[in-house]
Amino acid sequence: MTCGYRFRIYPNDTQRKQITNCFGCCRYIYNYFLAKRNELYISTNNFPTFSEHQKDLIELKENCEWLKDVQYYTLSMALQNMDIAYRKFLSRVTTNNETKHPRFKSKFDRKQSFKIRCTNANTKFQEKAIILPMLGKIKCRVSRDVYGRILSGTISRNSSGKFFVSLLITDMEKDYFLSTGKYVGIDLGLKSLVTTSDGDEYVNHRFVRKNLKRISKQDKRISKKIKRSKNHAKSITRISSMYERVINQRTDIIHKLTTQLIREYDVVCIENLCITDLFKQKNLARLKADASFGIVRDQLKYKSKWYGKEVIAIDRYFPSSQKCSSCGYIEKDLKKIDIREWKCSVCGIEHKRDINAAKNILYEGMKIYYS
Ligand SMILES: [Zn+2]
Repeated sequence: MTCGYRFRIYPNDTQRKQITNCFGCCRYIYNYFLAKRNELYISTNNFPTFSEHQKDLIELKENCEWLKDVQYYTLSMALQNMDIAYRKFLSRVTTNNETKHPRFKSKFDRKQSFKIRCTNANTKFQEKAIILPMLGKIKCRVSRDVYGRILSGTISRNSSGKFFVSLLITDMEKDYFLSTGKYVGIDLGLKSLVTTSDGDEYVNHRFVRKNLKRISKQDKRISKKIKRSKNHAKSITRISSMYERVINQRTDIIHKLTTQLIREYDVVCIENLCITDLFKQKNLARLKADASFGIVRDQLKYKSKWYGKEVIAIDRYFPSSQKCSSCGYIEKDLKKIDIREWKCSVCGIEHKRDINAAKNILYEGMKIYYS
């Protein structure tokens, strides 16, 4: 099992120059070999393999003065990225007859990145810094402890101009949560993101909507500016930061929520996600919400593995909201989403729609668990 960690870094002027230089060199390598491959593919219908390109790369690095400061590994990874993109493109050509070539990378791309060879020997964490190969000590917001074996590292700049280091880790130390002997079913919804069979509700914060007005105001301003001018770039940076904040807040809330559920319960039962259903959705709000549902499910699944708990997914077409959780009668008229509370016409128990659904999901999940 591998796991990714991402930390914000604050390079100084020299490091910033080094990083920008690496972006440039990787872009150059990517574009150089892409052009070469395109040319050969068009004229001979064949192209050199990755390892043949690697030989050219060694030669190129020796002859270009400005490539000397960048690790061979970093350049080779840029070459590999091109190779992967090219093979993807070729597989699309044969299956879909789609002929969109891999795009050349541009200096104006908002997102830039390159890989560095990080290992446990050359990568060290300090209290407010990280020591990286090639770049040395960089100020870093170390938001969590890293355990395990470091496989690789990526330095990136996002569209709002912030820098990050991402590490791929394997062989993590197992850090199990204690068993609580408690089981829960959860219902995912628009009004409350998560409702549990114990009756807890976690509200869906509508960050996007709140911030959307501000973002659309900025969007209008952008259209008035000349493309690729300094002011245009500034506005894009500002908008990207706003989106980023919204996404970060949402991710943060979902992370806290899923960790809490995994900590508190030994078995969490959820409804399974059906990807084809997702694309049938015409309602945008619903679609966006479904995207959050997907994140909740994914996080629950991998965290349950991390912390030694269990997640059980039940069939999506199970009538969780129409079924009375105490007598099992299926109330056919309950399909409309706006009926929040109802009374069972057989046993007379009053239900809150989401809690009743969560209870049904729990019972169904437990059947699978004990089968
Ligand atoms: Zn009933």
